[in-house]
Order: sequence, then structure tokens, then C-alpha cells
Amino acid sequence: MAQKKVGEKMFESSFEYDGELKYRLIFEKSPIGLFQYNTDAVITECNDRFVEILKSKRELLVGLNMHKLNNKSLLPAILDALDGKNGYYEGPYATTTSNAHIYVLLKAVPLTNPKTGQVVGAMGIVEDISELYRTQEELTIQKEHFRILSSLTTDSASILTIQPDGNFKREWLSTQLMDEIGYRPEDIDSFEKWAAIVHPEDLAEFKNAYNTIVSKGEKVSLTFRVKSKVGKIYWIENTVYPEFDNQGKPFRLISAVKDITQKKRQEQELQQHQNLLKSIVDNAPIGIWVVNTDGTYPLINPWFSQNIGYGTSQFSMTEDEIDQCRRSDMQALNSDGPIETTEEVTFTDGKKHILQIFKQKLTSTTGEIFGVLGIANDISERIQYEKALVEALEKAEESDRLKTAFLANMSHEIRTPLNGVIGFAKFLRNFPDTTPQEREKFLGIISNSADHLLTLINDIIDISKIDVGQLTITPEPVNINELLAEVYSFFYNANPDLPKRGIAFNYTTSLAESEALINADRMRLRQILTNLVGNALKFTEKGKVDFGYWVNDESKELLFFVTDTGIGIPKDRQKIIFQRFRQAHTDITKQYGGTGLGLAICKSLVELMGGKIWVDSEPGRGSTFRFSIPMDRSMDDTTKISMGYQLPALQKLLSGKTILIAEDEPNCMYFLKTVLKKLDVNILEADNGLTAVELQKQHPEIAAILMDIKMPIMNGYDAIKNIRTSNPKVPIIVQTAHAFSNERSISKALGCTHFITKPIDPNSLYQSLYIALKGNKDD
Ligand code: ADP
Repeated sequence: MAQKKVGEKMFESSFEYDGELKYRLIFEKSPIGLFQYNTDAVITECNDRFVEILKSKRELLVGLNMHKLNNKSLLPAILDALDGKNGYYEGPYATTTSNAHIYVLLKAVPLTNPKTGQVVGAMGIVEDISELYRTQEELTIQKEHFRILSSLTTDSASILTIQPDGNFKREWLSTQLMDEIGYRPEDIDSFEKWAAIVHPEDLAEFKNAYNTIVSKGEKVSLTFRVKSKVGKIYWIENTVYPEFDNQGKPFRLISAVKDITQKKRQEQELQQHQNLLKSIVDNAPIGIWVVNTDGTYPLINPWFSQNIGYGTSQFSMTEDEIDQCRRSDMQALNSDGPIETTEEVTFTDGKKHILQIFKQKLTSTTGEIFGVLGIANDISERIQYEKALVEALEKAEESDRLKTAFLANMSHEIRTPLNGVIGFAKFLRNFPDTTPQEREKFLGIISNSADHLLTLINDIIDISKIDVGQLTITPEPVNINELLAEVYSFFYNANPDLPKRGIAFNYTTSLAESEALINADRMRLRQILTNLVGNALKFTEKGKVDFGYWVNDESKELLFFVTDTGIGIPKDRQKIIFQRFRQAHTDITKQYGGTGLGLAICKSLVELMGGKIWVDSEPGRGSTFRFSIPMDRSMDDTTKISMGYQLPALQKLLSGKTILIAEDEPNCMYFLKTVLKKLDVNILEADNGLTAVELQKQHPEIAAILMDIKMPIMNGYDAIKNIRTSNPKVPIIVQTAHAFSNERSISKALGCTHFITKPIDPNSLYQSLYIALKGNKDD
């Protein structure tokens, strides 16, 4: 109530305020700090704002002698006013009482007695300008920072204003980057000039981006190339911020430009590097993959993924293989360096491949282990190749060993019969008084030894022919029953001690005589059977040796067998005995002799005939050799004639006939004459082709000609050619050394009728003559 009254009073009497009161009110309420001091610089009065600025108390300030202030920074300005001048101070001030750091602006004006003009004190006006100061200080610091920063970077910044025509004008440009690129600010002080240095390929995008900034008012970051003043290309990253006016329209652009040429180059190099790496990984014919510790596969290259069908239903690795793979992953994770393993992995081709695998744990830049890198090389072929090499080497060594053994054997095999021939031949010459029985025996030994030698030489020739692919099969009509009988009687006669040795020797035929005629290479079939039966008799101590054949109607084959109760052949040797030089019983070879060639030749011959050969055997119980040949029954009339051959019939046919023998070798001539004498024929002799041709012309009664091929003056071929010009019919029987297979074909082409093979077997000669003459007669 009392207060209200005072207020009302004040209002009512407001006009009565005197100047003093007014002044006091202004003094007190002024937002500026005011203080009054006397000539001794003692503060006599101050207002609230002054107390507030100095963060002090009125009672501490009023009565304060400012001479005594610790902080003397204000004192000069204060004293200036006492000297009648205006005092001024602007700067930092640490208050004495509150020890606060502030910035102040002090103006001090002298108070003078208007009457005397004498200074009676002074008035101080104080403003707290700390805020302003700080802002300015910060600005200065920021400016300094900006200066330092822009001196540290090669980047540039600029400010562009948007012109009324929509174009830009560059207001400001920090020069660092543009200096480097070689442009002065005036070179690029408009948008058009700026655009002019942009690479043509990037220009459309550049303009587009700037339009977007203006039309949408969005910050844009774009990269493009610019040409330097000297034509060098720089990559620039340009970030542009729009500033908007109070209608929200962009009116200014702040643009920061950064040289990213180096970064771009690095990026491009990195990209190229990555592309290169990717193409290596994608095209490498090896497996490359990365497995993370969580079991995922962030990388698996095409070679590997295709081969194991990764990620498809064709996935081919087995559980065991996956386990093995995981184990080696663990090993790699626990190992400092790379590890190498060899693992078997099933591929989609269904085969197990042998992989040589290198594994290495992978570590991130922060040192964390995050997975394993695997590289796999398929070494299956290499291993196979190495195996084959080792086998080949072993084979070569074995073959070398076998050849050495063969040569030693061969020397023995050749010397034994040669000793027989040479020894007994000399004996017969030196001791003519030997008894007829002894002579018979010695001649038998000589003949057997010679046969043996011949077989040996034939075997070697055959093997050489097999090697050069010259061994040919010449089918002719053969009575296989007769062939078997021949082989049987040969061995029976050659081994008269069989019954004494307790060996039952037999043969069986399964076709009737009339059916037993087939087309086959007689000589070669006989050779095979002779070899097998010879072996059976050689390797059998007692028991029996049977041979024969039967017919498989279904396969139209003849199946021959030679079975014995001999020493047999161990299982592991049953295949290799068909290879050359191989013998099943190397330990007892000496006992049985042999060269290891017979079965190899038999195998080649049987296969050439279109059949197969094999053996079933049990050591100690015996062996059965079997071979098959196709049954060929297509034959011509001559065949039937040959079937009728008997010696008496031949004698009858030839008796009194004339036969011309063309042969330059006296021994052969002698042998042929001896054989033919048995037939009661007249013989004409020619020791060269020319004589043969002439004799043939002079003696039209010649019933047949035996013609050798290799002769002096005129060879057999030319002689046949000549004879055939005048006499197409006379039978010409060529004697061929079967070592030269084309002799037969050439002679046949020239018109010869028959062949006999040297060394000449009398029976074959008789048979050929019979066929030749009988055939001629029937014509
Ligand atoms: P060779 O008899 O000249 O040594 P072969 O090629 O005819 O050569 O035979 C090779 C080997 O096969 C013989 O050395 C022998 O070890 C074995 N062999 C062949 N036939 C028989 C058989 N009937 N019984 C036991 N072993 C045999």
C-alpha cells in the first residue's frame, strides 16, 4: 500500500523532476557501465552495469583508489581524464576483485567546474567488449587456419555468382590448383571459360551437373577432366554448394576443386591390376579359391568350379575328400607360411584326380585371419606320365637284360646244333670206315641239328618281319586233318623215346576227311602247332601230350588246343610268355633251352590270321594252350586236285616227262635233281634265266619249269616274262626264299603257276608238281 503511494507520487510529480534526479536515473539505469572518480582517482560513484562488468561489488568499488590497482592497464586513460584530456583504452583487462578476464572499452572524460574550468574529477564509461573481441579473435584464428590450410593443399576453391542471364561469374578463386594447371584467375573467370577447359568427352555431363545445381538447388559432386594450359589432362573432383537468397533461389555457388589425377591414375592402375588378376584367376588352368573362416567361398575360379560342379547338382567331391580338404584348411590356418598337400578329388568326369594343393592363410590389414587361399594343380597326368616313364625305364632295363640273356641263350642255341652238324660231318669225312649203322645215326644227328638251326633262323627272321610289319599270311587250301597228322608224325619220329619216357602222345581231329579242307596259311599254321607241340613235349617229363582242334559253329572258328601234363606255368608268367624273349622258367632255362621267341611269333601269327591265343596252366599239373582262327571254306578247284595227291599217282603222271630246272646254286641244283630222280623224269638244267628261256624254246616237250629268282645274266622274273610271251600254259613253279615276301606277288603277276619255299621240302615239291600238272591236264 505504502509502495503504491510512492509510485503514484512519483508519477504525479514527474514533471517536477529536477535535472539532478534525471541525471541520476540515467546514470543508474544506463546499459553502459559508468563511474565517477575524483582528482585522487578514487571512485566516488558507479552504476550497476559497471559493477556487473567488473564482476565485483559496489561497496568494494566505491572508495577504491585506482592508483592502487594491481592491474594498471586502465590507469593511463583514467589519469588522462584527470589531466583534462579524453582517456581511451581498449583491450584485455583482468579484474582485481574477481580475477575475471574480460575485454573492455574505456572512455574517460574530465568533469570540470563550469565556473572555474578546473578539473574536479572525471567520468568513466566502460563497455564489456569481450564478446566482440572473442569473435574477432576467432575470426583471426580462422583466417590464419584457412591461410595455413590453403597453403598446405593443392586444392582450389572459388565462388561463382549466378548472373541474371543464368550464366556464372567467378567472384573469387583460390589459386593453388589453377596455378598448377597453369591458369590465372582471369583465364577462368566465367562459366564459359571454365567449361572451355573441360575435356570434350566430359563436357555434357559437366554442364548437366551445373544445370542441376541451379534448377534443383542441390549440392553436386562431379568428376571430369580438364586440359592444362600446356595440354596435359588432369582429373578434377568438383563439389559445388549452392547458396540461396531469401526467396529460396540459388544466387551463389561455392565450388571446391580437387586434383584427383593421381587418385584416378591409381584407381585405373588398381582397376587394370584387378582386371589382370581376374583374368588370370578366370582363365588359369588351375584351381584357385578362397574359403572364409565361416565356411563360405567368396572366390572359386571357373576351372575349379566347373571341374567339381561347385554350386550345382553335379557337385562331385565325396564326403571323405571334403573332410580331407577341411583338415588341410585347418593346417594352413595354424601354419605361418604356405602349406603343400596332395589330395585326391573326384571331378565331374567321374575320375579321381590327383591335385597338388598350396594353401595359405589370409590376414586382413588389421591382422585378423579371415580365410584360406587355395591353389590346386591337377598332376594326375604328370603322375601317370612319371609312372609310365618309370615303367618304360623298367621295361627298357628288363628288355636290355632279356636281350643279354637272349644273346647268351642264342649263342648256346646256335652252337649246340652247329656242333652236331660240323662235328659229325667232319667225323664222317675223316673216318670213311664207319659202319652203315653209325653213318645212319650220325646223318640223323646232322639232319636234326640242321632242322633245329633252320627253325632258329626262321624264328629270328619272323621276329624281324613282325617288327617291320612284313609278316603276311597267304591262305591256301589246307587239309587240317592231314596237317595235324604231319605234325604228329614229325614229332613222333623225332622223339622215339616217348613211350620210354612214359608220355602218351596223341592227336584228335573233329572234322571228317571230306570236311577238313579249309583256307589257311599252311606253313604258318604248321609253324604254330609245331611250336606249341614242341614246347609241350619239351616241358613234360611224363604223363601225356594231346593236341587237336574242334569247331565252334557259332563263331565259325576253329579252336586248336595243345595240352600237356608238364611243369606248368605260374599265374604271373602266363601273360608275359607271349612277349618276345620272355621265359616262364628263367631258373631252369638252361635245362630246356629255347630263345623265348616261339610264343611271341605264334601270337603275332594267330592275330594276323584273325584269331586269339591264350593259355590255362597250373604249375606242376600242366598247361593247355589254345588258339582260334576263323574257319574259311571258300576254295577253288585246284584244291580238290591237291587233295588227290599221292606219290604213286605223281610218279605215274610224270614218268618220262621233261622238267627244266633253272637254278644257279650248284647245291640246290643237286638237291632238286636228287629229289626229282625218284619220279623218273628227264631233267634239263639252266644256271641262269637266259639259258632257261632258250632251252624252253628248243624243247617244247618240257612239262614243267622250276624257276629260281635270283640268278645271274637274267633273273627269274625276266625269264618268266619271256617264257610267257611264247608259252602261256607251261607250269612254272617258283622257288622262293620266304624271307622276301614280295617275291610271291611279283612272280604271280608275271604269270608263274605255283610256289615252293626254300629250303625245299621234297613233299611240298611233289605236291606242287602234282597240282601243276594235274591242273594242266584237266584243262
Ligand atoms: P622258348 O620255348 O624257346 O623258350 P617260347 O616263346 O616258345 O620260347 O616259350 C616261352 C616260355 O614259355 C618257355 O621258355 C617256357 O618257360 C614257357 N612255356 C611255353 N610252353 C610251355 C609249356 N607247355 N609248359 C610249360 N612252360 C611253357
